[in-house]
Amino acid sequence: MSKMPALFVGHGSPMNAIEDNMYTRAWKTIAERISKPDVILSVSAHWFTRGTFIMNEENPRTIHDMYGFPEELYEVTYNTAGSPATAKVTQNLISRDTQFDNSWGIDHGTWSVLVHMYPNRDIPVFQISVDANASPGEHYKIGRELRSLREQGALIFGSGNVVHNLRLVDWNKAHKGFDWAYEFDEYIYKNIIGKNHDKILNFDKLGNIARLAVPTPDHFYPLLYVLGASYEDDKISVYNKSCELGSLSMTAYLCE
Ligand code: ZN
Repeated sequence: MSKMPALFVGHGSPMNAIEDNMYTRAWKTIAERISKPDVILSVSAHWFTRGTFIMNEENPRTIHDMYGFPEELYEVTYNTAGSPATAKVTQNLISRDTQFDNSWGIDHGTWSVLVHMYPNRDIPVFQISVDANASPGEHYKIGRELRSLREQGALIFGSGNVVHNLRLVDWNKAHKGFDWAYEFDEYIYKNIIGKNHDKILNFDKLGNIARLAVPTPDHFYPLLYVLGASYEDDKISVYNKSCELGSLSMTAYLCE
């Protein structure tokens, strides 16, 4: 079997789940382009925990972990099978301590994108959490340890945003970013294309623009799992390279 890709998606506003726009159309395009996975391992920005947890439910529930959006969004479900078997393989591949935990569910970081990529809901999905206490290098290492899942039919899927500063969101800046948002997004882009992952792990050396782009690391860390799970000779395709609402970037990276 040929190997599956690793994919990072900038998910942006939860409203993308129920919209048809240039971002969601690109997500569809990605799904049409790659072979259909047997299982999806999702690392969502929104399962941000102390320690690394793995969901191993037979039928994970959809959770609506966002507030103040239209009712329509709370009616979206993404009911697929889970994959206790792949969850077990995942636990065995990760060298650090992990625990199975089913107190969470398929969150909007995962379903707001998958409703567009795989609307038939016929692929098993499970999530692993993002450890708030781990360093960038540790997240990257977990991604590396999980890389072999790509040879076993698993799509390694990271969902976050390279630039994510909700405090500075400007609703008047549709499809536009602040200068520092473009600058940070470009820095990450250059170093992904150039495969200088050390520069990405040391993003904080950028100083002020890094503090603005990544005020908290929850939406940035899922990218590090995908880069950890990439191979030196992977072809990198970039989608949705853009900023939104001033302080979000929507850039997605497909490593295959
Ligand atoms: Zn989010």
